Parts: sequence; structure tokens; C-alpha cells
Amino acid sequence: MKRTIVEVLLALALIGAGVFGWLSWKQAQTAKGQVTELQAASEEAAKAVTASKAAITAAEEQVAALEEQLGPLQNKVKELDAIKGAMSSGTTLADLEAAYKTQKSLSAERQVGLGALRMLTKGGDDPAALEAFRAALQLTDLGSRKNTMCAAQIALAAAGEKVTVMSECLPQAAHGAPDAHGKPDAHGKPDAHANDDKAAKPDAHGKPDAHGKDDKHAKPGDKKGADAHAAPHWSYAGDMGPDRWGKEFPTCAKGKSQSPLDIVGPFVKARTSLSAEYKEGPLKILNNGHTIQVNVPPGSKLRVDAKPYDLLQFHFHRPSEEKIEGKPMSMVVHFVHKGADGKLVVLGVLLKEGNENPGIKTLWANMPLEEGPEVAPDGVKFNPGSLLPREFDFFSYEGSLTTPPCTEGVTFFILKTTVNVAAAQVTQFPFKINARPVQARNGRDITMN
Ligand SMILES: [Zn+2]
Repeated sequence: MKRTIVEVLLALALIGAGVFGWLSWKQAQTAKGQVTELQAASEEAAKAVTASKAAITAAEEQVAALEEQLGPLQNKVKELDAIKGAMSSGTTLADLEAAYKTQKSLSAERQVGLGALRMLTKGGDDPAALEAFRAALQLTDLGSRKNTMCAAQIALAAAGEKVTVMSECLPQAAHGAPDAHGKPDAHGKPDAHANDDKAAKPDAHGKPDAHGKDDKHAKPGDKKGADAHAAPHWSYAGDMGPDRWGKEFPTCAKGKSQSPLDIVGPFVKARTSLSAEYKEGPLKILNNGHTIQVNVPPGSKLRVDAKPYDLLQFHFHRPSEEKIEGKPMSMVVHFVHKGADGKLVVLGVLLKEGNENPGIKTLWANMPLEEGPEVAPDGVKFNPGSLLPREFDFFSYEGSLTTPPCTEGVTFFILKTTVNVAAAQVTQFPFKINARPVQARNGRDITMN
């Protein structure tokens, strides 16, 4: 093949040169004075032949180099074929699936393993393989489980799925890719979950500078530098996950009235009355690195036995932090209120997978996907009441902030009636997991009306 190309190219070059020479000679016949030109033309033709030869030699060298590179790749293909052959009976996959079936839920790592094995034995378009990779993506967050997340992203992309593979997952990963959340070191302040926590501060209500200061740290790009001298950070996984919060925030580990709780009976009859008077106002929404939070302008109130508590903000957790008889819901909204005496009251509304939620649609359309300062989209108004169910029956107990510093003395009301959220809306929420596990009840009463 190679030799044929060489011959053809040589022949073409020679024919070209010959024709050129012949034409020149014809001219010379009629104008002898042009002999010199003919000679020059012949020389040009000779040069062209030489150049063609050089080009052919270079091409040959390139082919040889490519063949050299192809060698190891061919070996890899053979190895892969051997593995595929070994797995092709399907017994290994069946064994693995049988072993996994006994487990309630699979870790992201096992999902990726299962997906990889399925992809290898059943091919890149096996729906169950893709499902496993998608499940793994759902479970992983950035940071501690980056490798698993990357494996799932790359596998889905390889199978032709529309998946964004983060730049840090690629071989020549450039650092500092702006990612939405969850990086354990992406936020350095204990009160970044400004919601619960900010509310704990006496002057926290809606003061833009309460987090404005932090926002400087939150800008992508200078996160790390800012964190070097920032307050201790925390996250929902890895080195600073919920089981380590106590190291920096002692109440999180030592407190006896911590939130959230698994809501299980027996219940004590509640004698409290509860009603909400939430008002529409301009939307102010932020991504604080731990959740999506809406800061509420003054005027919206919760009444507990006629005593008013101002609604400061509300934010979301995925899945719900509260469990009802051991089961979490898809998400929960926490409405954080403060009384004139500084007492905090949190109203929890559980979101259950179902129809699309129009209120959440508005919020998601305006939420910042990256950690950063509060944004107030032009002309967008929002009524927090649109996220409440009609029925106001509740469970109630004395608990704490569910984020560091886990301050206690917070009254929780969890509404029994859930509100719908579409599965797609749950997926759109930029935090895959931002829920603290349930805490020890320590003999606390849970009331119910
Ligand atoms: Zn919360």
C-alpha cells in the first residue's frame, strides 16, 4: 500500500515534469532564443521531483511513527477484549448484582463499579449501566468523592449522554474550575449557612452586610486564599462532614437537644396554635455554598399562640433533614423566624415528589448556581406563603440549628402536610446532599396537634 502510494506519487511527479518539459521544448522549437528558459524550466521540474520525494519520505516516517504508537494501543485493545471475554458469561455481573440486591441502597462507588461492569459486558448503551452511573452522580458531591463522581461523569459522556464532565475530571485537569458547591474548602465560615446561623445573631435580620463580608470570600477564584485565614469550615461529607463538626463546634457533638430528629411516636398532645402571615416582596436569593437561601424583607410573620415571629429567611435541604418514621422526603424548606426576644422558630415544610411546584420554579429560575452574594433579579416578586400547604397540623419539638454552630433553643414545627416538588426540580437543586443526619432524641417530647 505504502509502496503503491510512493510509486503513484513519483509517477505523477515525473509525468508533470515531462509535460512541462515537453511544452517548453515546443516553445524552444519556434523560438530558439528561449533555450535558456527551457533549461531553467527543466531545472525547476527536477527540483519539483526532488521536493516530491522529500515529502514522500516525510510521510513514510510519519506512518512509521504512528505504527509505533499504535502497538501499545493494540495491546490495550487485546487486554480489554480478554477482560470482556472473561466476563461475557455474565456470571460475574449476575453474582455482583445478586450480592448488591440484599442491600437497601448502594454507595456511589458500588454504583460506579456496577455500571462499569455492565458497560463492559453489555456495551456502552446498556440502560442499566447508564442508570447506575446516574445514580452514582446523584450520590456523589464534589470534594471527598470526586473520583467516583468523575468516573460516573466520564462514563456517561462516553456513552453519549449529555453530561458535563468537570474540567477537574479530565486528565490535564486545570485547577480552579468554578464548581457550584460542596467542595469542603469552598467556604470558610461557620455561619455561611447564614440561614439558621445568621438568625442566631441578634442583628441578623436581613442586614445585607451580615453576609456581604463573607461574599468576598465566596467569589470563585479566591476561595482558597480567603479560606487560609477564614473561620473553620464545614461540609456535608468528608473531612469536615457532620460527624466531625463537633471538633470545631462543640455544641454539635455535646448538645443534648440537637436537630434534626426522626419524628416517631409516642407523641404528646400539642396545645400550641400556629399560623403564618407571609407577604409578597422583592425576591432576594443567594447560594451560600451550603444551600439556596431566600432572604425575606420585613413584614412576613409566623404566629405561635399569638406571639409574632418575624420570617428572616428560608432555605432548602435535600433530602429532608427530618425523617417521618425513619423516612426522609425529597426535600424540606426551613422557614427561619425570630421573636422580639431573639428566640428562634423554624417551620419545616416537607417536599414530596409529585407535580411541579410553581413557587420553586420561580426560585430555581433565579437562583445562583455558584456560591456568591445575594442577587435581587429585576422585577421578580415572591410570596413565601406560596410554598405552604393549606393544612397547618404539625409535629413540634425543641431542637437546634442543623448547621454549625448547632446552637440550641430553637423550636421546630414540622408540618404534617407535604407540598409537591417535581423530580426534575429536585435534581435541579444544585446541592446533591445538604442534610444533617438525624440526632439523638435524648428523651425529648415531640408534640402533635
Ligand atoms: Zn435548615
